[in-house]
Amino acid sequence: AKTMGKNNVQFYSEDLSRVVHQHLLLEASLNRAIRNREMALGYQPKVDLRTGRIVGAEALVRWHSPERGVVGPDQFIPIAEQTGLIVPLGDWVIAEACNTLRALTAQGVEDFVISVNLSARQLRQRRFVEHLEATLREYSILPNALELEVTESQLMDNPAAALEVLARLKSLGVRLSIDDFGTGYSSLSYLQKFPVDVIKIDRSFLGDVAGDGNAVIARTIIALGHNLKLEVIAEGVETQEQLAFLRDHECDQMQGYYFSPALPPERLSSMVCSGVRM
Ligand code: C2E
Ligand code: CA
Ligand code: CA
Ligand code: CA
Repeated sequence: AKTMGKNNVQFYSEDLSRVVHQHLLLEASLNRAIRNREMALGYQPKVDLRTGRIVGAEALVRWHSPERGVVGPDQFIPIAEQTGLIVPLGDWVIAEACNTLRALTAQGVEDFVISVNLSARQLRQRRFVEHLEATLREYSILPNALELEVTESQLMDNPAAALEVLARLKSLGVRLSIDDFGTGYSSLSYLQKFPVDVIKIDRSFLGDVAGDGNAVIARTIIALGHNLKLEVIAEGVETQEQLAFLRDHECDQMQGYYFSPALPPERLSSMVCSGVRM
């Protein structure tokens, strides 16, 4: 290994400085993008499996960059997390989702829930709960129309701290959801203590529900959720077979490309107002 070492080190250090440079470029343009309003939310409908109606949507952020085109969150959320930009970005996401909720209400839509994704850094922010409360008031949003999605691994990173923040959020009246459930090794005792309303089965467990072990896991998560009096939603539903499986096992809601990708707010609103059913 020593003989190859020298060249390798050189290769890696050049590569690393290139990566760092890219990262800095991205950070600078991300910073500008937030100020220039290049961010947009897409809303992926959530369907009630009993009635077939759209009962909510998940807000997913997109960056419409003049230089890079449409950039997905997987490419910039981690950098926004590391640099702290996630805090202003996350505040913007919540305000924008509230704005869409207010517009839907003005169109006569009732009992509609929009969920937003939270990052670990937002949850750790000292003034997060107060800020959220102020935003809900500013947009006159009923707290239970907003749902916050927190991943299972974020919660299990420091369960005691998470429990405290979740309790404060719950007392505001917002809905809480555990995202990517099944991937983060929750202990059952914590699951019972977290004041959450919904668990979201990670899409990796829907892979091949027609056949193998995934079916057992998906079924077990649905039963677990229901035994704890939680709603259960499946994400990443792409096929008729997955939908039939979820119906058979009485999953409550589903979202996925089988029904619809994330939509601009006007398209969400016309779909909801048309009363379309699955
Ligand atoms: P997530 O919360 O697990 O979001 C679901 C992802 O799966 C979304 O990707 C969505 O477009 C995609 N998806 C939806 N239906 C299907 C399907 O049927 N099949 C497949 N294969 N994929 C489907 P997206 O929009 O690229 O978001 C990726 C991740 O970025 C999200 O994962 C979430 O963790 C994060 N994210 C998105 N928006 C925000 C945000 O506003 N704040 C924070 N902190 N994170 C966000
Ligand atoms: Ca999510
Ligand atoms: Ca998810
Ligand atoms: Ca996932």
